[in-house]
Amino acid sequence: MLARYAEDVQEMKLGFVGLGIMGLPMSLNLQRAGFTLSVYNRNPARAQTLEKAGAKLCRSPKEVAENADIIFICVSDTPDVEQVIFGTDGIIHGAKAGSIVVDMSTISPEETKKFARRLAEKNIEMIDAPISGGEAGAITGTLSIMAGGSAEAFARVKPYFEKLGKNIVHVGTNGAGQVAKACNQIVIAVSIEAVSEALLFAEKCGVDGRKVREALMGGFAGSKVMEVHGNRMLNDDYKPGFKAKLHRKDMGIVMDTAAKVKAFLPGAALATRHIDEALEAGDGELDSSAIFKVLRKKVK
Ligand code: NAP
Repeated sequence: MLARYAEDVQEMKLGFVGLGIMGLPMSLNLQRAGFTLSVYNRNPARAQTLEKAGAKLCRSPKEVAENADIIFICVSDTPDVEQVIFGTDGIIHGAKAGSIVVDMSTISPEETKKFARRLAEKNIEMIDAPISGGEAGAITGTLSIMAGGSAEAFARVKPYFEKLGKNIVHVGTNGAGQVAKACNQIVIAVSIEAVSEALLFAEKCGVDGRKVREALMGGFAGSKVMEVHGNRMLNDDYKPGFKAKLHRKDMGIVMDTAAKVKAFLPGAALATRHIDEALEAGDGELDSSAIFKVLRKKVK
């Protein structure tokens, strides 16, 4: 029985749409794991590495769906996912009944639920499975994956998630994965705000921020953000990491959803305002720890 299951996993044909910073290394990991893979990228130049590795290069998301049982998506934003699934030449026009669409982009939870309902009308399942861990996690196959959808569909896609990530959690029904990702972005944004304020306070008090960070790392104030983003702030080096403009996109999803569900998020609102100010200063391509630069310019 187990052996048969393993064969089924290997025999499933996979598709991947969106070969950006994240999608390219993720799809390469699936290809290297020995699965049959069909891929599409709007700019076909980015698909060459995969074609060389043995993947089939398709001319549209529809063609990917025609060649696959499970179709992964990793594109930029909510309208892009909508276009890739439902647009002319979209996945829905090529997918067979019984196939599964796995959206790994970070998009709106509310729209995700609607997309899942529209796909279900054609007997196509959807799993929302946004990711955390950045380009490094995508390359090393150590992403965190937070999934929403039916337990059956999740069980079918989990063996493939295991080639992409390490911490894989089935959070709930469709949209729950995107809610978890929004929570992730709230914690990171508010933590960056807190670390920025602490390091600014130390600086203004004439105390060495490096020593403060070192001292705080051993106690309850220590965190990944204190470690990684704090270091970026102290070195005045904002090479991304995670670009401020992408963090702004995600905080837009957070704040829009919060307005709809009537959640009061004052910390997230403040961090969003400071990311906006970083964008206005032309720092959208920098890491979102550039919030520190925004605060530094302000004088009370
Ligand atoms: P990226 O490098 O900018 O790549 C975006 C991809 O989406 C490209 O392949 C792009 O195609 C494609 N695309 C965008 N709009 C499209 C459309 N309308 N139709 C078809 N293809 C479209 O972005 P990324 O960093 O890989 O991020 C992808 C997703 O993962 C985003 O939702 C992001 O928030 C999320 N994410 C990113 C990170 C990170 O550290 N970068 C971490 C966690 C989650 P072209 O090449 O033709 O432009």
